[in-house]
Amino acid sequence: MIVTIDGPAGSGKSTAARDLAARLGYDYLDTGAMYRAVALALGRRQIDLTDLPAVEAALATVQVEALPGRVVLNGEDVSGLIRNPEVSQGASRVAVIPAVRRFLATEQRRVAAGRHIVCEGRDQGTAVFPDAGCKFFLTADPVTRAERRYHELAASGEPISLEEVLQAQVERDARDASRDLAPMRPADDAIVIDTTHLTPDGVLARLEEEVSRRCPPART
Ligand code: C5P
Repeated sequence: MIVTIDGPAGSGKSTAARDLAARLGYDYLDTGAMYRAVALALGRRQIDLTDLPAVEAALATVQVEALPGRVVLNGEDVSGLIRNPEVSQGASRVAVIPAVRRFLATEQRRVAAGRHIVCEGRDQGTAVFPDAGCKFFLTADPVTRAERRYHELAASGEPISLEEVLQAQVERDARDASRDLAPMRPADDAIVIDTTHLTPDGVLARLEEEVSRRCPPART
């Protein structure tokens, strides 16, 4: 059984996906971390993202494993290196490249095969798992999302202002929502939840309620 949670940065989907997976006893897949790891890999090799043969050749040597709570790039734990604003923008730049999307979608389907899993991202309910048993799209007003992200970055010591976070978020949302392949949007059959005025516990309660109404319980 696959549950998908899509939505923009700061919508609360990572916390919700992790908490829902823990509550249901499901695995959890953070697909944004996979795009971030690919951005890091291509950036380190200084691949020109407009040079598609070079991107494809580089992808052939990239291995990304998204494990619970961490992401491993060619055997190296890069979890601590991918959560900064530069990699966020890099991830949304590599995410417009069809070869990158195909590469990661294949890996995401491989990871999910035969599992009970909550998959979080931008295109999980629309493109990667169109037959998922239960689909959510979380959203929130842009300033609230930027404030959430700002507090997270400030807590990790990142020197950035709220205005810069908001500006970067506007750019990233626009790129994610306008790309040709698998743009960020709710699936037609997704349950859309506005988290602006909800606490993380409130979001979890809404998700659990919908899952228990629409989806059969996990086999153990
Ligand atoms: O969710 P997170 O902020 O970590 O995602 C980083 C970027 O990766 C997003 O802005 C988006 O461009 C890309 N992404 C995507 N499809 C996914 C997950 C992430 O395009 N399923």
